[in-house]
Formats: sequence, C-alpha cells, structure tokens
Amino acid sequence: MPDLTTNVRYIKGIGEQRAKSLQKLGIYTLRDLISYFPRAYDDRRTFRKIKDLQDGETACVEAMVAAAPTLSRVRKGLELVKLRAVDETGALDITFFNQAYLKDNLRAGETYTFFGKAEGALTRKSMANPIVEREGSRLMTGRIMPIYPLTAGISQLMLVKAVEQGLAACRDLLPDPIPDGVRMEHQLCRIGYAYEQIHFPRSEEELAIARRRLVFEELFLLALGLKRLRSRREGLTCAAWAHTDLSDFYARLPFSLTGAQRRAIGDILRDVASGRPMNRLVQGDVGSGKTMVAAAAMVCAARNGRQAAMMAPTELLAEQHYRGLAPLLESLGVTCVLLTGGMGVKKRREALAKLASGEAQTVIGTHALISADVVYQDLGLVVTDEQHRFGVGQRSALTAKGESPHLLVMSATPIPRTLALIIYGDLDVSIIDELPPGRQKIDTFAVPGSYHQRVYNFLRKEIAAGRQAYIICSMVEENDAIPDDRKAATEYAAMLQTQVFPDLRVACVHGRMKSKEKDRVMAAFANRETDILVSTTVVEVGVDVPNATVMVVEDADRFGLSQLHQLRGRVGRGQYKSYCILISDNRAEETRARLKVMTKTADGFRIAEEDLRLRGPGDFFGQRQHGLPALKVADLSCDVALLKEAQTAAERLLERDPELKDAPVTAQRIELLFTAGGDTLN
Ligand code: ADP
Ligand code: MG
Repeated sequence: MPDLTTNVRYIKGIGEQRAKSLQKLGIYTLRDLISYFPRAYDDRRTFRKIKDLQDGETACVEAMVAAAPTLSRVRKGLELVKLRAVDETGALDITFFNQAYLKDNLRAGETYTFFGKAEGALTRKSMANPIVEREGSRLMTGRIMPIYPLTAGISQLMLVKAVEQGLAACRDLLPDPIPDGVRMEHQLCRIGYAYEQIHFPRSEEELAIARRRLVFEELFLLALGLKRLRSRREGLTCAAWAHTDLSDFYARLPFSLTGAQRRAIGDILRDVASGRPMNRLVQGDVGSGKTMVAAAAMVCAARNGRQAAMMAPTELLAEQHYRGLAPLLESLGVTCVLLTGGMGVKKRREALAKLASGEAQTVIGTHALISADVVYQDLGLVVTDEQHRFGVGQRSALTAKGESPHLLVMSATPIPRTLALIIYGDLDVSIIDELPPGRQKIDTFAVPGSYHQRVYNFLRKEIAAGRQAYIICSMVEENDAIPDDRKAATEYAAMLQTQVFPDLRVACVHGRMKSKEKDRVMAAFANRETDILVSTTVVEVGVDVPNATVMVVEDADRFGLSQLHQLRGRVGRGQYKSYCILISDNRAEETRARLKVMTKTADGFRIAEEDLRLRGPGDFFGQRQHGLPALKVADLSCDVALLKEAQTAAERLLERDPELKDAPVTAQRIELLFTAGGDTLN
C-alpha cells in the first residue's frame, strides 16, 4: 500500500527520467506530488454549439470529424493537419500546427471535444490548435483545468494524470494540522477535500472553499509558530526605568526633532518605565531620522545605569553611526565604543574589556556584538537598525546577552502592514511618518542602456557644479555562494576612470573589501575627495553624504523596489536637488511596470506594497534576509482578513493548550516549518 512517503515512481507513467525531472520541482514523494498546487486555472467548462460560437470566444465544442484529416507541409518546419468537424448546427474548420500525428489519431466519423479559441463568423468558423480529446473523456476539456508550474520533461497533462493518481492513493491519509475544533469553528473543509479541489475544482465555489482552508492552514501554522517561539518573552518583567528626562539631549541636537520623532521617543519612554521589557518597532521611511530616536533611547539607558547596544547590518553603517553618535553621546557624559568584526585585535580587546566592566555604557557594532566572547556588564537595551537585514535569530541572540533587555527594532524598509503583522506580530509599532523639513523630491528616471552617454554627460554636469554621484552596479545577487560583485564594481570603476571620466576622481567600494579600506574610501567620498563612487549595494542602507545628488543604478531590474527605494534614499539628503537614474535593458512588461512605480512615487510604504504585490512575499526581503518560511497558497496582499482570523485562532488554541499536547500533528508541522529554513524566528 502506498503512503505519503512513497516515491513518485509509484505513479503509473513516472519512470526514472520523469522522476528526476519532478525532483527539480521539489517533488520526491506522493506527499510532495499532491502538495504541488496549481499556479492558476483554465476554465474549460463552457460548451457551445458551432452556430453559437462567437468570434474570439474560447469554448469547448463537441463535433464529429467529417472526413479524414489532411496533412500538408507548407514549408520546412511547418506542417499543417486540417480537418472539418460538424455538429447538428454547423461546421468548424480546424487546423493543427506541427502535430502531424493527429492526422492518424483523429478518425472520420468519430466525435471529439475540441477546446480552443473560435474565429470567424456565420458560415466560416475555425479554430487553430485546439486541445482535443475523445468525447466524454473530460480529462482536458469540460472542466476547470489546473495549470502547474512546469520544468523541462514534464507536461501539464503528465502532471494532471500523476496528481490524480496520487490523490486517489493518499488523499485520505493526509494528517490534518488544523485541530478539528478549530476547523469546525472557522468553517473550514477537511484536508482531503481541500487537496482534491485545489487541484481539480468542480466549480469556482468549491475552489474558493478549498483555497480558504489551505490559506488558513498556512497562516495558522505560521502564526502558531511565531507565537510559540515568542511566548518566551511574554510574561517577563524587569525593573522600571526611572530617569527619563532627556532635555539636555534635545538641547544638544543641531536641529529640533520632528513631531513624529518625538512621538516615537515618547512611546519608548513609556515602554521602559512600564516594568515590562519593551518590544518596539520603529518604522520610518529612509531619512526620517530614526537614528536620533535610537540615540535618545540609548541615553535613557545610560541614565538608568544600564548598557545599550546598537546593532547595524554592515560595518560601514556601524562605523557611520559610531562617527555620528559617539561625539553626541560623549558630550552628554555617556561613553560609547565601536565593535565590528573587521577591527584590530587590540582595539577589539579594549572594547570587550570596557563592555565587561561597564566602563562603556553604549556600544555600536555589527553582528560582532553577538559573538560568544562578548560579555556585557548589564545590557538593558538592544537596538537593531535596519532590522530586515538580520535573521530574526540574530536579534534574539543579542537580547539573550542581557536579562530581558528592552528591545528596539528600527526598520527603514517600510514593511507592508500585512507582512508586519506576521513578522512583528506582537511588537508595538511607532511609525515615523514625517520627514525632517526641507527635504526635496528626488527626480527619478528609468532609462535603457542606450542612454549611458547621456547619463555620463549629466553626471559630468552635476560634478562640475560641485556635487557627487553614486553608481551602483551589482551584477550578481548578493546571496550567490561566492559573490563576485567585487569584479563587476572594480572593473566598471576602472573603465569609467580610464575611458569616460579620466579627468574626474572615481572610487570604488564593494562588500568584500577589508573594512578599513572600505571605511577609507567612504570617508574620502564623504570629504569630497572623490567625485563618483562606484559601489555594490553596500551603500544601500543608511549611508549619509548630503553632497551626493545623483544615484545611478545599473541593471536596476535586478533589484527589488524596496531596495531601489533604499538606494535612492542615499541622495536628496542635503539642500541640493537630487536625481535617481535607473538603467535597465530588460523590456519585460512586468519589469517596466516595476521601475515605473519608482518614477511615480516616493512613498516607501506604497513602494513596499507594490513590491509585495509584484514579487510576492518570498522575495520581499531578499532570500537571506528573513527567516520566514515561504508561503505557498496565501497571498499576503489580499488575504488580510483570513490572516487576522488565523492569528486569533492561533492565540486561542495556545491559550487552551500552550504546549499543543492535544494537537500533535500541529506541533510537528510547526517544528518542521521553522527548522527547514535553517533560521529560527526569535
Ligand atoms: P534614517 O531614518 O534613514 O535612519 P537618519 O537617522 O540617518 O535617517 O537621518 C537622516 C538625516 O537627517 C541625518 O543627516 C540626520 O542628522 C538628519 N536629521 C534627523 N532628524 C532630523 C531633524 N529632526 N531635523 C533635521 N535633520 C534631521
Ligand atoms: Mg538609518
């Protein structure tokens, strides 16, 4: 007897070769096979009499082949099989291209079902390349057909037949991860029915019922997993912070904070005074001034005799924060050290000693902050900047270094509400929805590669006016095994220097440079010693050079919209009019639509929503940047209501049965969900 773990070769028609092809789709077992859901459906249920066929209409026709089909070779590589089919209302001329075998398969006098697009009117109706099968067979016509994502060596029909067999063998063996009580309460169908209907829906209504259940299941498990992993933090208490007067901090700032910044700080001060560990996300668009909000929290920690650590995703960013914040903090009598992986042994040892003794009240660093040898005297506040760049596990590794420290999460990538609900499900959120005064609109253009010369001319003009420019070129994905962005960036920079801008100062910075070197190049750029900085995406987050006014992104189509928005945020930070030029030769409609969004809006939240809609949640953070399992059925841009319902259900289940003792299947699935990705959530 086959079961869910049976190899797909059990299926009739799947031999060694096809099994190999199926593996490329992630299908090894019968469970994998029946869990391989269609990506779309083709409704082939409409039947028409020939006389009722409208020009351009797609429908099924049951008709008899009137005479033996003819085969003709029009020219090399083009064979036509032609036939005339009739029903009691009329005749239909049918042509097949390059399917010579049909000449002998379709017999005169027999009736078939043809499904295709009708053309012509009145007396001369025709159909080209219809799908054809014997009348009544109802395998590929007369029903809602699933459409599966394919790979070489696997056809739709093959998958349809295989899935049908797979379902017949084990639809009743599927363990249901939704406990019966929850299933009934939320009026969800049984799992076997859901699997059957998601593949072969009898009607739209039944498809909707199946889909609703599967989406619920996915979101329910995700919510349960997150809540369980997070419940550790819940119920914790800590000493309430007493000293939260920050007037001297405000007085030291060269500008007055925006209302939104003040509100965020207010939220934080209330949290830390509450006697429970803070769990707060500060979300604000690029340039909204989140750093100062974090600084306020760090000063507050020091005033309460506790240490604060701020973790940034790159050395560049950590160093920039350090350069910017250390003088401010020190002027308020708060000591601050830097800790990065790239720093020398001696300096590192010094920093570690100061952290362990408590001499350093604050530290700014990279994930070096969580390495095993870092010991804090009394870590009371953890700030993570650009949170989306960290695996969620890294965040909790840092909080584990203190005794229930307060947690402040900063995110510049505006996360669509739907996703935020999941990822930050039980964080409190402060939104900085106001930019500091005087910011200008950044003019954004999407242009093809043929504009390079014009782009270079434009750069020259801006530089002549005293400004500076970034050119981003990242020919390879950052998450490739061995990123070769160095080569792309250095070669491009060399070409620009020698052939395009011999009279200007071109520099290059990339992710694989030693941090000292990187720092030197960035500092030189910040000091206006170079005009053009060719870079990989290392400048993506946080870098602040107000004199830079042009951001050129090569191969812009390779980036997500949110990433482009981040890159664009590197310019327009000073008083000068700034520009962003997105270069791409990719003419695909979807790509152009995406880049167009950039030229139309500067609103990070809208861009993030678009990104989510166009690319799906899997891509949203870039592969390596989040620890969430991929969602298969749920579409976060439209399943919000169901998401809330699933979350409520998850909460209630955990209240009744925190260890999921009565729901072993559920518990097991959650376990799998979070171990498969390698990263744990919290
Ligand atoms: P982000 O939210 O992207 O991290 P930053 O904290 O880097 O933004 O701030 C961007 C720039 O705006 C910095 O140069 C910072 O000094 C400046 N800034 C922050 N707050 C204000 C303010 N209230 N008024 C004027 N400038 C500000
Ligand atoms: Mg920032």
